Amino acid sequence: MTLKVSNFAKTYPDGTKALLPTELEVEQGEILSLLGPSGCGKTTLLRLIAGLETPDKGGDIFFDTDNVTALPVEKRAIGMVFQSYALFPNMSVRGNIGYGLKMQKLSTSEIAERVDHVLELCHLTPYADRSINALSGGQRQRVALARAVAPRPRILLLDEPLSALDAALRDELRDELALLLRMFGITAIFVTHDQDEALAIADRVAVMKDGVIAQVGSPEILYRKPSSAFVAEFVGNAMRLDGHFQDKKFKMQGGEIALPVQAQSKTSSTPDLYVRAEDVTLDQTGSLEGTVNSVTFLGTHYKIALSGIMEDALYCLHSGQTAPAIGETVSLSIDPSALLMLDPA
Ligand code: ATP
Repeated sequence: MTLKVSNFAKTYPDGTKALLPTELEVEQGEILSLLGPSGCGKTTLLRLIAGLETPDKGGDIFFDTDNVTALPVEKRAIGMVFQSYALFPNMSVRGNIGYGLKMQKLSTSEIAERVDHVLELCHLTPYADRSINALSGGQRQRVALARAVAPRPRILLLDEPLSALDAALRDELRDELALLLRMFGITAIFVTHDQDEALAIADRVAVMKDGVIAQVGSPEILYRKPSSAFVAEFVGNAMRLDGHFQDKKFKMQGGEIALPVQAQSKTSSTPDLYVRAEDVTLDQTGSLEGTVNSVTFLGTHYKIALSGIMEDALYCLHSGQTAPAIGETVSLSIDPSALLMLDPA
């Protein structure tokens, strides 16, 4: 199913404008993530799509070509997965998954067939007859997903489905969820405040801020071509470089960096320059010099904080076998093509 939201806004009764007029389209089978800091309106947008909230006057929502704006939640044929699994604790796994199918008044044999199928897909067959109370958090969340997809909804809406799980399980289930959603081929919208989760699972990510979608794009586009300082910082923690433009260079406290050719000729506007820690390199011939403040070993690389280059620390990700010592003075370079030039926030 394709989803289209047009002129969709939400003002709560107390006057809070949680969502400003928004346009959004999601393609058949696409997984879209709504990503943003707390309070930016992700849940509000998801609840509006579900029909759990009513949009302000003038907003419309289409499932394919059907205008479902006036349809109540139970008539929209959506599947939902929440952070708190919302399962029936005393029922078996099979009972939970079959519940919605019973409500659809399917025959007993058809229910059994469909339940077996999703049990298999979600790797839950061995647990079919267990009670929910006897499952781990990850297994419970797989049951919640199985239960949501069993009735073959038109669209699946997931609200922070992994945030109640511990870190290791969250990573494991994240990859599994990405695979399962693609296997089901179902159009899905996924709310998260975790950038890694959004980038790992979604085909496209809508980054939200203050009730507005700041940018929508593939994970690669958001990462490499952020349209604003907010997106650059929120997705991939880009650092704003502190300094000034002079003689086709950018001068900083700890040295100067070369600019990409297109920036050298730009004299009228002065953009802010951003860089990601992975594009800052320890390099004996580099034109920046700083002091190592801290070194954190992260397995695949070291994260090094450097002072003396700009007011805030500049971070560098270093994948060598050894790292410089704290207090050591090091030279660094920044590849001009990795600089992000963005309008001042
Ligand atoms: P979080 O990640 O913390 O859940 P969110 O991005 O999902 O945040 P929303 O829950 O959509 O954000 O809230 C958006 C704004 O609307 C916030 O300022 C919130 O306080 C406000 N809000 C949410 N629900 C209501 C309500 N029922 N009445 C009034 N204001 C509300």
